[in-house]
Amino acid sequence: MTVNSNNPETLVLHAGYRADPATGAVAVPIYQTTAYQFQNTEHASNLFALKELGNIYSRIMNPTNDVLEQRVTALEGGAAALAVGSGQAASAMAVQNLARVGDNIVSSTDLYGGTWNLFANTLKDQGIEVRFVDPADPEAFRRATDDKTRAYYAETLPNPKLQVFPIAEVAAIGREFGIPLIMDNTAAPLLCRPFDHGAAVIVYSTTKYIGGHGTSIGGLIVDSGAFPWEDFPERQPALNSPDPSYHGAVWVEAVKPIGPVAYIIKARTTLLRDLGAASSPFNAFQVIQGLETLPLRMREHCRNAQAVADFLGNHPAVATVIHPSRQTGEAKRRSDTYLSGGLGGLVGFELKAGRDAGRKFIDSLQMFYHVANIGDSRSLAIHPASTTHSQLSAEDQLSTGVSDGYVRLSVGIEHIDDIIADLKQALKQAV
Ligand code: PLP
Repeated sequence: MTVNSNNPETLVLHAGYRADPATGAVAVPIYQTTAYQFQNTEHASNLFALKELGNIYSRIMNPTNDVLEQRVTALEGGAAALAVGSGQAASAMAVQNLARVGDNIVSSTDLYGGTWNLFANTLKDQGIEVRFVDPADPEAFRRATDDKTRAYYAETLPNPKLQVFPIAEVAAIGREFGIPLIMDNTAAPLLCRPFDHGAAVIVYSTTKYIGGHGTSIGGLIVDSGAFPWEDFPERQPALNSPDPSYHGAVWVEAVKPIGPVAYIIKARTTLLRDLGAASSPFNAFQVIQGLETLPLRMREHCRNAQAVADFLGNHPAVATVIHPSRQTGEAKRRSDTYLSGGLGGLVGFELKAGRDAGRKFIDSLQMFYHVANIGDSRSLAIHPASTTHSQLSAEDQLSTGVSDGYVRLSVGIEHIDDIIADLKQALKQAV
């Protein structure tokens, strides 16, 4: 039986799995197996030839991972997804699936530091150039494009600035050239559905809000199925020319009997096969448990973060509060347009008293955890100038939006009175 619904609260519990056909188990089983018995030699060769879809080996597919993939695909309104070992693996493979040596992508400057490093150093060493542009001006993507540009890349709600990316504007520029927009939606699951605004691919670190409990590292790539790869054979050679790593398959042709999933099938059958950044079924199980309550948790994260932003905005020791509700002009227009499901759980603020006060504040917190993470059910805090951004020059810190007194909060789902009480007492100690 399938449940017919488009409501996220229902999809997270029922999409892609109802009960185990063998045992009737209602909770998604952890299929902790490496390999799968073929019915006979014909079945085996059909699976390898993609004439039939089915399980071969858990580095490339697993039934527990499959439920997670189907649920997030349903939530995003996409065609198919691929679970991988981490958010970093998802970002790397999302790009490597299209760009080869000598190619480039254009990326927003407003990125998670790990993605920045992957793009500026590791992909560069592999011969893929990443051109960074300021997302304040969507036309900067067009200006940085040349005939070797294979993808655009950005985060929906990047911290520390928390300025929402102009998804539709940049996706539309990409469509003119045959360039897909890849959106990292890690900070805004359910709040924004990037495919509704023209993005072609979504990546997630499921380690954050989707998992939600700080137990497991994981990542996902979701294919919208809506990007017309075959209309741009020269722009997108990876999907339109024979692939020597899979019997010379031309991916847009090879997948036609299955559906509009050339991008994600190639990622699974070549990159995941070769690079091996597989998701363990146990981690996928943990992420599925988190996903089941994601709609509830996101509502609480958003509500608590709004209350924290309001509290900090009225506090005399606080110079500025960074939260979408406090933006004006174009930044506000973007958050109104794209964050239709809520403004998120992240809040930044700057203390008037600067760096030492920022450190003292963090050291004085009693309930908030001091960790380099976001999206946990628990409240988290960090002082970037003395930790995550301490290797950057003062000038580079400022350009990424980190001032000396800047503190980042990932507001959890504890009772709001306790969250505010902890912030209040720590502010008192700090200034
Ligand atoms: N994308 C964003 C926005 C992140 O915040 C992170 C991790 O902090 C990642 C990607 C990388 O994810 P993971 O730590 O699961 O590799």
